[in-house]
Amino acid sequence: MQTAGRKFMGSRTVKSLALLYGTVIIICGCGKQERTLEEIELERRTLPTVFITQESRTHVTAPLNQGVVVHEPTGELAYPAFACGNPNCPGREGDQPFLFIQTDPTLSVGPNNELVRGPPKGAFNMPVCPACLAVRDLENETLQEQAQYMRWAEEYLPPESAAREAELDEEYQRVYEKSGRRVGGQ
Ligand SMILES: [Zn+2]
Repeated sequence: MQTAGRKFMGSRTVKSLALLYGTVIIICGCGKQERTLEEIELERRTLPTVFITQESRTHVTAPLNQGVVVHEPTGELAYPAFACGNPNCPGREGDQPFLFIQTDPTLSVGPNNELVRGPPKGAFNMPVCPACLAVRDLENETLQEQAQYMRWAEEYLPPESAAREAELDEEYQRVYEKSGRRVGGQ
């Protein structure tokens, strides 16, 4: 009984708030259409990020969700960049993290610059920073040290995209909570 009562109250509160909100929008004429969760998610998945080509290590900007692509001007495969978070990474230059790629030996470029996918080979490899790898003592490394190196290898997002991603996360949370209350109030 108590639960039902609370639900009823909740529903009324939401309706009053919705009414108030609607009125405010009409009065100030600033009724900006709220985006759907799908729209926010799409922007999040297509944020611009850095891709690096396999041979010439050319940096290219492309949407995050493109996966591996063929870089038309050079005909090389371009992979999304990983950043090494190791503060003592030998590849680090100033405050810039070292960027690297995890290549996939099953991929190649076809005669018409198309991406060719070969049969799968072995297990999926975790991204490993090649600059750190060159100075690591793999024989004597503890499991904790190995795990730390794995955590340091993270998908790279340029600072502008990372900042936008944080805004989108907030927007998503706001819309999600709003829609959640609406469902609960019905
Ligand atoms: Zn490194």
